[in-house]
Amino acid sequence: MADAAPHHLSHLALDSLPDTGWQGQGTLPLTALPRLAAELHTSSGAVQWALTLSRQPGGDGRPQWWLHVQADGPLQLVCQRCMQPMNWTLHVTQAYRFVPTEAEAEAQDAEAEEDVLAWQPTLDALALLEDEALLALPAFAVHAKGTPGCQPPAQASDAQVPHPFAALAALRKG
Ligand SMILES: [Zn+2]
Repeated sequence: MADAAPHHLSHLALDSLPDTGWQGQGTLPLTALPRLAAELHTSSGAVQWALTLSRQPGGDGRPQWWLHVQADGPLQLVCQRCMQPMNWTLHVTQAYRFVPTEAEAEAQDAEAEEDVLAWQPTLDALALLEDEALLALPAFAVHAKGTPGCQPPAQASDAQVPHPFAALAALRKG
C-alpha cells in the first residue's frame, strides 16, 4: 500500500493505472481539507483515508473501473445549542463507478446505487474525499439532551447584550 501525499491525491493519474488497480491509504491533516475544517470547531486533527481503484467486470462483460473511498476520524463540531465543541466521528464509505463519458454518467447516476463518474485522465481524489466528508456531517449538530453545560449562551447574566436572535426577532416585528 502506498501512502500518497495530499498533492498526489489531488492529481491521481487514472490514465496510467496498471490493470491490477491501485490502493492507497494515509492520514490527512484537517488543514489539507479547508472546506471541511471551516465547518468544525478546530482544524487541528486528522482524517484517516483509504482509496481502492479496481477493475471489475461490467454488465456487458467489459471491465469497468471502480473507486472505493473510505474516511474516518474524530472531529469536533460546534454544538448549535451551546456553541461549544462536540465530539463526533466521521465515517465515510462510498463507491464510484467510472463510465467513458459525462453523458453516460448522467444517464446512469440516478438509477445506480453507486455514484457514477465520467472517466477523467486525472482525478482530484482529495476534493472527492472532502465532498464526501462534508456530506456526512450532520445537518444540525447538537449535544445529546441533558448534556451538562449544554445551554444556549447569552442568558440572564448577559441581559444587556442583545442576543443575535433577539435582534433578528425585532427586525421581523418591525
Ligand atoms: Zn451543546
